Amino acid sequence: MLQEVNIGRRSGFQSANIEHYRWLIGDELIDEILDIAKALKGVKICQINSTAYGGGVAELLPRIIPILSALGIDCDWRLLHAPSEFFTVSKAFHNALQSKPHELTQNEKDLYSQVNEQSAKLLENSYDVFIIHDPQPAAIRAFAGPRDAKWIWRCHIDSSHPDEQVSQFLRPFLEEYDAMVFTMPQFVLPELRTKRVAFIAPAIDPLATKNMELPLEICKRAMADSGIDPERPVLLQVSRFDPWKNPLGVVRAYKLVKKKIPHVQLVFIGAMAGDDPEGWVLMDQVEEASVQDPDIFIFTNLGGVGNAEVNMFQRGCDVVIQNSIREGFGLVVSEAFWKEKPVVAGKAGGIPMQFPEEYHQYLVQDNEEECAEKILHLLTHPGERGSFGRAAREHVRKHFLTPRLVRDELELIKELVN
Ligand code: UDP
Repeated sequence: MLQEVNIGRRSGFQSANIEHYRWLIGDELIDEILDIAKALKGVKICQINSTAYGGGVAELLPRIIPILSALGIDCDWRLLHAPSEFFTVSKAFHNALQSKPHELTQNEKDLYSQVNEQSAKLLENSYDVFIIHDPQPAAIRAFAGPRDAKWIWRCHIDSSHPDEQVSQFLRPFLEEYDAMVFTMPQFVLPELRTKRVAFIAPAIDPLATKNMELPLEICKRAMADSGIDPERPVLLQVSRFDPWKNPLGVVRAYKLVKKKIPHVQLVFIGAMAGDDPEGWVLMDQVEEASVQDPDIFIFTNLGGVGNAEVNMFQRGCDVVIQNSIREGFGLVVSEAFWKEKPVVAGKAGGIPMQFPEEYHQYLVQDNEEECAEKILHLLTHPGERGSFGRAAREHVRKHFLTPRLVRDELELIKELVN
């Protein structure tokens, strides 16, 4: 059997009741979900990805699965069974799908196929629907052979300009799926033959510890306890240490801001994901670029910074940065917006759709001067920070909260199993 990620959903059963979102979302969407769920009662879903920790997928599943269970839809979460060297290859594939050129070797193809084949053998037969996330476990479907189930590939990244060798290798595995889900139409892998393609954006959970309401005073105190001066301006980027999130560019933009506002501080919260060996190297580089600057702070999950701290720092900071060059969706943007924080972010992937139309001027294109200029403007215009934050929260409330995601996914599953 493939390793199950036990999220303890039985105990979380009640807290995941979809009714708890009604006051935030309104009746229409919640009633719609209840209707679809009725038609899907008893359906068994298996979600498969490559890590239980770090990154957006590991963030989403623990929130969605208990809601599905509470709706009477059984959903398990299982992990691809892989040795550590596999993740170097799969990260290279991930980057290659996001356009980084890659010289594909026979050894990489063999390792990728072996791991997926072995995981397919370990997969139980008792599910009606398999949802496979991202490229790492994508070939499981092909190796699983004919089964009485529907298969969905959920691609969280922008695969619109992939490396040709890697996309040629992966394409036949992907074309076996009954349906594919991309965050937006612009992300679809070129020349892919699909039986059914759906576009579903991710979402954040307003009831999760990471997003729950917290008094500002407590958030500021937590920051002070971590050595940050809450009385001085704080910039924050929360993301994996990944070249596409461009943390070194954040340091450069911060240094430009600091020339004008010398007491500004920069905080990184960076998770080290289990399937991301590149992270360590980049974190060392960020530390090197920050050495000798006591106003740059770097925290990681390994140092005990978890969801509560992310929440408190997002609430307690002044401006959130998400300096991505390429991005799948960028959950952190919605997380910050939900807390009414202004965000200066890369014009990449799913980030622009999270911005209210009238604040698109805070999207920047891999340009540190521009990024610094936007940050400076926000730091010196508190009124603009407030109105931006409020408009952004409302935009997130309408489009990027969990119930909308649950509805979209259940609708697709209903279409497939019927
Ligand atoms: N995250 C976190 N701690 C960290 C870094 C990231 O909890 O140190 C969370 C972040 O709050 C968000 C998710 O990890 O919920 C990252 O998702 P996103 O879509 O922004 O990026 P991905 O890592 O999937 O590319």
